[in-house]
Amino acid sequence: MHKKLFIPGPTEVRDEILQTMATPMIGHRSTAYADLHKSVEEKVKRLLNTTGRVMLFTSSSTGVMEGAVRNCVARKALHTLNGEFSRRWYEISKANGLPVDTLEVAPGQAITPEIVDAKLAEGGFDALCLTMNETSTGIFSPVAKIAELVRAKYPDIIIMVDAVSCMAGVEIQNDAWGLDVCLAGVQKCCALPPGLAVTTVSSRAMERAKTVPNRGYYFDFIENEKHAAKFNTPATPSVSHMYALDKQMDDIFAEGLANRYARHLAMAEHCRAWARKHFALYGDEQYASPTVTHISNTTGFDFSALNKELGKRGAQVSDGYGPFKGKTFRIGHMGDLTVADVQWLTAQIDDILKL
Ligand SMILES: *Cc1c(COP(=O)(O)O)cnc(C)c1O
Repeated sequence: MHKKLFIPGPTEVRDEILQTMATPMIGHRSTAYADLHKSVEEKVKRLLNTTGRVMLFTSSSTGVMEGAVRNCVARKALHTLNGEFSRRWYEISKANGLPVDTLEVAPGQAITPEIVDAKLAEGGFDALCLTMNETSTGIFSPVAKIAELVRAKYPDIIIMVDAVSCMAGVEIQNDAWGLDVCLAGVQKCCALPPGLAVTTVSSRAMERAKTVPNRGYYFDFIENEKHAAKFNTPATPSVSHMYALDKQMDDIFAEGLANRYARHLAMAEHCRAWARKHFALYGDEQYASPTVTHISNTTGFDFSALNKELGKRGAQVSDGYGPFKGKTFRIGHMGDLTVADVQWLTAQIDDILKL
């Protein structure tokens, strides 16, 4: 039996989207491909509220996380850490030999404008990495407010945002907030199979990239920009994903962005209320994520037994990530899932655990 995915990625993919992935292949240097690429690019720009560049990469999000720091860090990057995914970005910078420093808060806490300001005031930084929705802890940091502060006080800093587990689930005003790079893979709130990632790239980021000698090859923004001008990519893209994203964007706009964001919040509110009633929400509740609910296992039930039983009923949820394994669990409510879906899910858990 197929298990409906209530995990924070990959998310459940609708049959129509899977069917679209099976569209017959076209050559990636054909006019038909350029038309498709242009269409996808325009729709992603509309989603992210940008009139600037959108680049499309055949890779998971981690690839673009690496590409972004390779293109945009010349002097020193500040990595903000509040969980496992923000830590991954820092590890990526280190693995590339980039100069880095960190600003770390305890898991379950958010990154705030005040602490970013205090750290950047030390000087020497030219890039900032933010994880908008830290999927490992279920914490959503106020990126809009942080960006507003950085743009006002530190105009030369390149702001890079990992929006992997919230893009298309919450509003992102790329240009109004002054983001330079805002990236995400499509297997989370976009509800596509994994394998494609999108990112905005500002003119400020392009100018920075020109000063960086070793930007790498596959994710080199300058090389990609040359091809993007012709609605192409330097290497062969996942054409199947492009078809699927083009259709999914139409479906997202048909639902309405405001409705989509309200649906994510309504799913989150249902899961939070349920969690508070039977367990406890993990972390600082004022920053609780709209797309993944992180719950402390206060009763010490056997998580793998629960997930096994849920599996028989056609659903799957997630264990705590990394150090949280066995101590917490997570319900992903992303993409095309509905409030009725999460109501059904929590009713199943109630039944299995006799809550
Ligand atoms: C899932 C996730 C990633 C990693 O994404 P991949 O597509 O597996 O590379 C990075 N950051 C966040 C916040 C995530 O949720």
